[in-house]
Amino acid sequence: MNRLVSNRTLLRRLPRERLSLLRELGALADERGESLYVVGGVVRDLLLGHVTLDLDLTVEGDGIAFARLVANRYRAGLAVFDRFATARLVFPDGLKMDIATTRRESYALPGVLPTVQPASIEEDLYRRDFTINAIAWQLNPGQFGRLLDAYGGQRDLRARTIRVLHAGSFQDDPTRIFRAIRFEQRLRFRLERTTLRLLAEAASTNLIQQLSGPRLQNEILLLLAEQDPVRAIARLAQLKLLRFLHRRLCYTTRVKRVVAAVPKALAWWARRFPDTEIDKPIVYLMALWSESSPAVVATMIRRLALSREQAGKVTVGRRVVGRVLKRLADTGIVRPSQVYRLLADLPDEALVLVLATQMSCQQAAVLSRLKRYLVDYMKNRTIKAALTGRDLQAMGLQPGPQYGTILGKLLDARIDGTITTEAEERAFVQKRLGVRSDC
Ligand code: ATP
Repeated sequence: MNRLVSNRTLLRRLPRERLSLLRELGALADERGESLYVVGGVVRDLLLGHVTLDLDLTVEGDGIAFARLVANRYRAGLAVFDRFATARLVFPDGLKMDIATTRRESYALPGVLPTVQPASIEEDLYRRDFTINAIAWQLNPGQFGRLLDAYGGQRDLRARTIRVLHAGSFQDDPTRIFRAIRFEQRLRFRLERTTLRLLAEAASTNLIQQLSGPRLQNEILLLLAEQDPVRAIARLAQLKLLRFLHRRLCYTTRVKRVVAAVPKALAWWARRFPDTEIDKPIVYLMALWSESSPAVVATMIRRLALSREQAGKVTVGRRVVGRVLKRLADTGIVRPSQVYRLLADLPDEALVLVLATQMSCQQAAVLSRLKRYLVDYMKNRTIKAALTGRDLQAMGLQPGPQYGTILGKLLDARIDGTITTEAEERAFVQKRLGVRSDC
């Protein structure tokens, strides 16, 4: 059993200035005759003793009017989403706060977004995904710090259990299937028995197919952005959920090994190249798709409605990684410019995948050569030739494809260190021009 923090400790979990802000907002709501609560994951995390940065508030009354008032008073930036009766505020110190109106939701069809109507706080909590996310913490003076926990959220937090609030929950919103796995894996909780059965039942129908591409993408990428996506992917596989990406997605032993090697590859990369930014969920997706055919990958890209940039990265699949590894394993590669040419068109995420793939095959010598190549390549890719096309033109080169060839050769020579100055570059070009005019 988990020990939850006491009410008093919960208040102390928040920095003093946040706490006084919440007290002020509670008083403001009170003046308007409205009740104000902190809700959802924030309360869950505070009760578990975790630090939370952003705040989710809900008003039993008019959330948007209240948000406007707060934004005015505290000079916070404000974005209003009328359809969902929510507003997002960004305070001058960077604090992000969502303010919503307490509401009930109804679903015209499974998988579609709900229509919302104002309702009581109890109904608002009942529409939530899991009991642990359905606890509210009141802010009005006199009630400040009172927990509303009508559905056993604290009990389930103590028992480390994920439990839906009613049997139709996954039908109402199949994204909850992925959210359940996300919280289960993140918090190291387990799915309560009935919830697991309901989840398995929902997963055996075509409910998830009805989710739009962007909604499915959001859930999958959020799962892959978690601290330990390897376990989350294994859980998806165990619950037969990978088939919703594609029923012919190849989750072979080799794929599992590559996926399992990704954290090590990412850690090595971050240590070596701390200034690069890697899209980690995309690396996991690439690893997961690394044995699937190009046609299957193309279908999954469409299913998840990936952006052009994301799609560009993931299409560098098994074939490219295999080809690169084969070439790099070839001890015939000697010049740094050859490594540069081999890797130059690949996104960094693909380089991490190359590394993870090699790490998964336990060949220490090849791996250390690959790491050396990567370190050299990352250094070399900042090198530029001094001369440009304009210089070549001034030197009398006629328009044509030789511009690209000569500039490429100059860059190779710079990378290999056979040319180190602009004068040497000019001499190199002169020589080529001379040879050409002799012909
Ligand atoms: P995280 O720590 O990942 O941000 P969170 O619990 O704060 O988790 P959010 O997606 O920010 O999750 O949602 C905030 C709250 O809104 C949740 O705690 C939950 O009460 C409710 N909620 C979010 N998505 C759903 C959903 N699909 N169905 C029902 N309730 C939801």
